[in-house]
Amino acid sequence: MATNRTFTMIKPDAVRNGHIGAILKMINDGGFRIVAMKYTQLSIAQAGQFYAVHSARPFYGELTSFMSSGPIVAAILEKDNAVADFRTLIGATNPVEAAEGTIRKAYATSIGENAVHGSDSDENAEIEGNFFFSGLERF
Ligand code: ATP
Ligand code: MG
Repeated sequence: MATNRTFTMIKPDAVRNGHIGAILKMINDGGFRIVAMKYTQLSIAQAGQFYAVHSARPFYGELTSFMSSGPIVAAILEKDNAVADFRTLIGATNPVEAAEGTIRKAYATSIGENAVHGSDSDENAEIEGNFFFSGLERF
């Protein structure tokens, strides 16, 4: 069953490169409503916990050090079919393969530093939103 919520982060590369505003505009123009949002920085341990599913992958160390290398914007987004539609909006993991008009095509620099995160399932959207936000921080 499609849910109406997903979770995203604007990653440290996109924050460093000054793309927060442009990415939020693409999210708004894509029809997503912001339910919760914060500007924060993960410790390496928190980044490791967030991406624990990838702990056996060769890029895990690179991923956790990158994701803790600077501030990120975390948000819960709402829209019909949010998870799938947001994956479409962000584009392929590797920006070389990302379609025209996607956030990663516009702002990602490499497969590792790819500008945004988007949940890959309803279940993970719930888990990831709960990682960052309490009930009092959702509107
Ligand atoms: P995300 O979960 O961040 O939205 P994704 O779902 O498109 O990305 P995953 O397979 O979940 O891709 O990988 C998580 C993240 O790990 C990627 O976004 C990227 O930052 C990093 N990553 C994935 N594959 C590689 C790789 N081959 N080399 C370096 N980093 C990688
Ligand atoms: Mg993923």
